[in-house]
Formats: sequence, C-alpha cells, structure tokens
Amino acid sequence: MSIPSNLRTWVQIDLAAFRHNLKAIRARIGSTAGIIAVVKADAYGHGITRVAPAIVDQIDLFAVANVHEADELAALGLGRDILLLGPCLPDERQAAVDAGYIVSVSSAEEASAVAGLAGTRSCALNLKVDTGMGRMGCWHEDAAEVVRQIVKLPNLGAFHISTHLPAPDEDADFTREELEGFGRLAAEIKAIAPRAKFHALNSAGIFEFAGFAPDYVRAGLVLYGSCYPDIYQPQIQPALSWKARLVLVRDVPAGRSVSYGRTFFTPHQMRIATVPVGYADGFPRQVSGHDAAVLVHGKRCLVLGRVTMDQILVDVTDVPDARVGDETVLIGRQGGEEILARELADKAGTISWHIFTGLKPRGSYFYY
Ligand code: PLP
Repeated sequence: MSIPSNLRTWVQIDLAAFRHNLKAIRARIGSTAGIIAVVKADAYGHGITRVAPAIVDQIDLFAVANVHEADELAALGLGRDILLLGPCLPDERQAAVDAGYIVSVSSAEEASAVAGLAGTRSCALNLKVDTGMGRMGCWHEDAAEVVRQIVKLPNLGAFHISTHLPAPDEDADFTREELEGFGRLAAEIKAIAPRAKFHALNSAGIFEFAGFAPDYVRAGLVLYGSCYPDIYQPQIQPALSWKARLVLVRDVPAGRSVSYGRTFFTPHQMRIATVPVGYADGFPRQVSGHDAAVLVHGKRCLVLGRVTMDQILVDVTDVPDARVGDETVLIGRQGGEEILARELADKAGTISWHIFTGLKPRGSYFYY
C-alpha cells in the first residue's frame, strides 16, 4: 500500500485479520453458538463503517453501547439485528423500539415500559442479569421471577438473557462459579421462557471458558486481534497498525534535557527523532518514563522524556540511516519486531481497549 509522503500519521486496518480472528473464535466455541460482534465505540476505534460490512457474513448479531451507535450501524443497512448493550434513557426508548433494536433492561418494570412503546409490534429485549459486574441488570437471585413477569408481555419478540463477566482473565475461580450459577439459572429459566437465548462470554471468556457458550458469545477485543491473557495472542492477528513519519532527526550532544519537565538528559551524544504524534492523537502520556518504544527500520527505539501533545522524541542512535520521512510504527509490525496495543497499554498502566478507543490520529485510516 502506498501512503502519501505528506501524511504524517495514519492507521492501517487489515480486514483479513477479522476473518482469521473469527475463525479462531469459532475454533474455541464450536459450531453451535452464534457470534455477537461487539462493534461499539466505532468498532473499538477501528472504524465501524468499514469493519461491520467486512464481517457481517461471518457473524450473527451486532452489539453496540447505545442508540446513537446503533443508528450509525443501522444506516449501513447490513441486515443484522443490533443489540444495545447499555441501558437506554427513558427518552431514547421509543427510538430504540421503533428501530427494532434489542433493548437491554434490568427489571420487569423497565421491560414493560419498553414493550409498551411498541404497541402491537413485537419488542426485542435483553434481560441483563447481574452475576458480579455490579453495573446493570437484575440480581441473579431475582432473575427467574423477573422472567416470569416479562414472558407475560403480549408483544415479547426476541428475548435474550445475558450476563457480563467482571473478571474472566483475573479471577478464574470466581468466574467458573459465576458461569456455573448462570448455567443453572438458564436451565431454570428455559422452563419459563423456552425461546430465550443466553449469553455470557466476552473475549477472555471465549478463551478461558469456551465450554460455557450457550447460545451466543459477545466478541469484542478478540475480533480486533488483541486479548487477555496474552498467552492466546498467537491464535489471533492484530487488525490495526498505527504509523507515522519521522519529521525531524537531530544529533543531540551529551547532557541536554529532552521534553517537558526535563525528566531525561542525554547521557552521551544521541540521535533523536521527532515523531509527529502525541497524546492528542491517542499516544498515552502515561507511558512517559516507562520505556515505551516505537519501531524505526525494524528496530525498537525508546521514547525519551515526556509524551507531548503533538510529538514524541525517540532514540534513533542505533538507526544511523534513519531519515526524515521514514516510516515509524507505533502499533504493529516492522521487520521482525512487533509492538502490540497491549504493550503500549501495559507501559501506560492501562488496557488495550483504552488504547484502541482513545486513538484519534490526525491523519487517515486505510483499509486493505
Ligand atoms: N459484552 C458487554 C456487555 C460489554 O460491555 C463488552 C465490552 O466492554 C463486551 C461484551 C465485549 O468485551 P471484550 O471486548 O472483552 O470482548
């Protein structure tokens, strides 16, 4: 792919990676469960208008956070149902019902209010069950009773029952117990609502607890080729690369301070390159002083001093032929080296989701 030489920074999305990652999901969960593709937050910063059409034939449903995101997705006309993962404001419900979205509810009262807005049309609901996330849903102890109320709604259409795991990659014992409990609940509820569809697993759950995939899994991060815990990384392919061009290369004598706060001094003469990307583009300021690296000519080059709003300074002393205009990789592969979003996240004390959804490079996206 040829990138204009006057473009300072850009993101490349490898659409074939999604196919690979969906196969990896399928290999984990087997052939019976459906796949709900979680494409909220602009497909985790990858660009929903290109990602959703590229994967639509390999997934069963889409999930987004809210009505606003759902409307953007629906406008693409892809012909898949859309699940709203987050709660709706009362004043959003009518639009959600009119559009036929699957509305997540936390109580029988909320379900009834939503269904009431559909009139004689059928209304699709997702009853959230709180099994430990503490964010939304009815308590798991109350779920069967809530379902008993909901199935009385005359216009109940598609009916999902789901939970969201708070710690599938951090607390295996708790998660196993949580999933076993949800499985028992599902068995009880099936007698009350035989058509209900159940789901619980997100990306880490798909890898760690694939045996607990009842009707659907909700795949987010893994779709994009990142995962926790990272032992599963070899099974998937990162879809996103973030690149920039060096805009300045200078020889800096020993003893000079570099960037705000003068936290780094050159210990000896160094070659330092300026990369025109900063925290305003989503390169996390928190990596400052934590040995984050970028790739130049396939070599890891450390970020020196603090990340600034528009620029970072990187040590290219060991890349003597580095020149202005050369491509540098902030996330992705160059030569035999790779920087995963996960690595950048670790250096910043955060998570890959945060890196992806925080990307706003002042450049272009390319899809291939
Ligand atoms: N399900 C729900 C309710 C979510 O909020 C999310 C993401 O935050 C997901 C599924 C997907 O999670 P992951 O990106 O870990 O696959």
